[in-house]
Amino acid sequence: MRITAAVLENAGGPFTLQQIDLADPGPDEVLVRVHSVGICATDLEFANFFPTPAVLGHEGSGVVEQVGDRVTGVSPGDHVAMSFTSCGDCPLCRGGNPAYCRRFDAVNFTGRRPDGSTALSRDGQPVNGHFLGQSSFASHVVAPARAVVPISKEVDLGVVGPFGCGFGTGAGAVLNVLRPEVGSSLVVFGAGAVGVAAILAARVAGCAVVAAVDVNAGKLDTARLLGATHGVNSTDGDPRELLTAIAPHGFDVAIDTTGREDVLRLAVESLGPLGRCGVVGIGPSEQMSFEWRSVLNGRSITGIIGGSSLPQVFLPKLLDLHAAGNFPVDRLITRFPFAQINEAVAALRSGEVGKAVLTL
Ligand SMILES: [Zn+2]
Ligand SMILES: [Zn+2]
Repeated sequence: MRITAAVLENAGGPFTLQQIDLADPGPDEVLVRVHSVGICATDLEFANFFPTPAVLGHEGSGVVEQVGDRVTGVSPGDHVAMSFTSCGDCPLCRGGNPAYCRRFDAVNFTGRRPDGSTALSRDGQPVNGHFLGQSSFASHVVAPARAVVPISKEVDLGVVGPFGCGFGTGAGAVLNVLRPEVGSSLVVFGAGAVGVAAILAARVAGCAVVAAVDVNAGKLDTARLLGATHGVNSTDGDPRELLTAIAPHGFDVAIDTTGREDVLRLAVESLGPLGRCGVVGIGPSEQMSFEWRSVLNGRSITGIIGGSSLPQVFLPKLLDLHAAGNFPVDRLITRFPFAQINEAVAALRSGEVGKAVLTL
């Protein structure tokens, strides 16, 4: 079928809207008509080196139109959120940890299915896709059934896309991995969509102190509005001193969403004894360094992919929290028409918007 997709022609962008071809779903795949799709920092990062021409996008939501012969549990007409995919066969997938699938990169980041084929083409030539199980910067997606999560038809499809990545990543780091105790202290570095999702989850978990650190005053205002007890603008002084004033004995939990070496160091060094630092950001730094003494006293550092979630279990729970008013992410979202994808990317890069969602 002919679809409309935002094609990345050259590394670094921009995206151009084009008519391209999409093959029928394979036996283990589904065809989804995309309703809306969030733009995530990972799209912008991969746009710099993903093999082109390509279609990116991995925070899609929509309606299932067709399912392959072997697909069970999803039917045409179902509303779905889309998430990352996984092989389903390795010990980590079988153990309920698909975010750490042994073939995670092969099935999510090569631009092709594991057999080397792609559902996308233009003038008979292959177009790379299958990005994080989706490539949802498009009117339609052929996705592995493993990558879609059926959701209630009551839920606004315009909100759920980012639950599959950004919101699920931040909330999952807190609720699935770090699991702070009631009354504990938590600090989040970077108050973007992932960071604010972590802050909302920290409130759900009953943290008494929830600090947000950023350089953007507007983002800190949003973080405070949504539940951060403290907003720390690291341009206002020595961030170490500002954090010590909030948690004199160090934080129980720290989360880095920035992937910047200096921030990662600050996150680790802001911990108290037995403190745990979750690293969720993909950022500009290749390395992280800190004084070895800073991990004594039982401190630990954990890398977390996709909120360590089993999307089919975790996303419905998170959507239930949202429906009950306990995970109010709507305020973070700014909607753009699909045709304005490049404007949305610019607004995201400048920090003007927290989470850009394209509406198809
Ligand atoms: Zn696997
Ligand atoms: Zn993402």
